[in-house]
Amino acid sequence: MRVVMIGAGYVGLVTGTCLADFGHNVTCVDRDADRIAALQAGAIPIFEPGLEELVANNAAAGRLAFAAELSAPVAAAEAVLIAVGTPARHGDGYADLTHVYTAAREIAAALDGYTVVIIKSTVPVGTGDEVERIIRQARPDADVSVVSNPEFLREGAAIVDFKRPDRIIAGVEDNRARAVVEALYRPLYLNQAPLLFVSRRTAELTKYAANAFLATKISFINEIADLCEKTGANVQDVARGIGMDNRIGPKFLNAGPGYGGSCFPKDIKALIKTAHDLKSPLRIVEAVASVNDERKRAIARKVIAACGGDVRGKTIGLLGLTFKPNTDDMREAPSLAIAATLRNGGARLRVHDPAGMEQAKALMGDGVEFVDSPYAAAEGADALALVTEWDAYRALDLARVAASMCAPVLVDLRNVYRTEEVESYGFAYYCVGRPMPKKSSV
Ligand code: NAD
Repeated sequence: MRVVMIGAGYVGLVTGTCLADFGHNVTCVDRDADRIAALQAGAIPIFEPGLEELVANNAAAGRLAFAAELSAPVAAAEAVLIAVGTPARHGDGYADLTHVYTAAREIAAALDGYTVVIIKSTVPVGTGDEVERIIRQARPDADVSVVSNPEFLREGAAIVDFKRPDRIIAGVEDNRARAVVEALYRPLYLNQAPLLFVSRRTAELTKYAANAFLATKISFINEIADLCEKTGANVQDVARGIGMDNRIGPKFLNAGPGYGGSCFPKDIKALIKTAHDLKSPLRIVEAVASVNDERKRAIARKVIAACGGDVRGKTIGLLGLTFKPNTDDMREAPSLAIAATLRNGGARLRVHDPAGMEQAKALMGDGVEFVDSPYAAAEGADALALVTEWDAYRALDLARVAASMCAPVLVDLRNVYRTEEVESYGFAYYCVGRPMPKKSSV
């Protein structure tokens, strides 16, 4: 099938490449001409494990191409997928649909023959209706169906998630579109991936409901972690204990610095806006968002407390800046709020991340020292905070770290280490929601 992917970002590039790997003929279009030129030259603009090789293989096989202009590929395509960004609109938190509507107008102008336009971007309920209206208004002659097919992949595991999804949700309003979606996902379908056909509005809302539910688990376990700290209970054991219940499940129950990233914060804001406008408030989701906002500040205060209550003039090393491991994505990363609070308190920061430093430099501003190893971040520091649990930080040479620090203080915001082990190297060790010895208690 001839497929066009509009938007070659984290979602578009991965899903476009995976669809090519299934045997479809895919053109990824992006209005960022530099990005397209880089892709055409074989460079991958994002960090995603396994992607470089997959792009190279499919481009070499002639199934994957890149273009800055969509007219010719769209005219020839049977399916056009929209995977452009839908960030939070400045000031009010609604989803900014400018890119989606622009793409819809551009697609409309290029349509030729029956085409299914598939919205992969995360968009509020009713956006599919509006995209269809835009296209029909611009091209009353167009033979088109508009489908909602939200994407559930996780950055860092995006290829596996796309190729082995828990489910595919397709919001279709007619059988012709359904047949095209079935053909598009046929390789997955044969692999037993459940393909769930629902109405277009249901598909749109399902994506938001899924993200809101996952965020709820995170805020929930973070509050339980606080209670654990007050009671001497261990949040990791609590999470294991409740997670063994099939009705609850073990995932998304890791206490830490709160959720961030390119999706949860903006999607939760947008969902709250939709619910509010329709006078059907989501009070649980509102609480989840406010718990998470407060969480980032509380976690920064935890680091300050570990430094004796004052970080002025102190050097603090931060390990891990991206919102989660195995991505270079810094959007809404908790490290940003933590770094800002520590700097406001007068701390000097020395930071490291395996893949996110370029993006972080643009966001963290001056006065932050970026270093090329976790050991360099610890060198001469008054405290070291593990913010994002990259594998590279899971087996640090703790003797070396302790010896190089001004004061061996480790604040483990992801509960990666065992208390006894860290303390055996002379560290004052602070973690999240686990019992801490008297001398470390904050
Ligand atoms: P992104 O910012 O990484 O990529 C979007 C790309 O679209 C950019 O390269 C931009 O230049 C391009 N673009 C914008 N308007 C365009 C136009 N008119 N024509 C051509 N290209 C255009 O965004 P992303 O992280 O891939 O997210 C895309 C959508 O998928 C969002 O709605 C997001 O919420 C959703 N989503 C993201 C993830 C994730 O993990 N990143 C997961 C699931 C769903």
